[in-house]
Amino acid sequence: MHNLDSNCSYLPSPANRINLGSFSSCRGAVAAAKRYYNDVNGCYYCAKDCHTS
Ligand SMILES: [Zn+2]
Repeated sequence: MHNLDSNCSYLPSPANRINLGSFSSCRGAVAAAKRYYNDVNGCYYCAKDCHTS
C-alpha cells in the first residue's frame, strides 16, 4: 500500500494498482485495501506509519 502523494519510487505498475481513494491516515487506506487483498502492508518508504515487518 503506497501513498501516491509521496511520489514513491516503489509503486507497482499501473496495471497492478487499485486506487483506494484519499484517506486522512494510512490506517484507513489499509482497511480499504483489505477489501481487495488479504495481506496488506504499508510501504516502508511512503507509508511507514502502517508498515509492519
Ligand atoms: Zn511506497
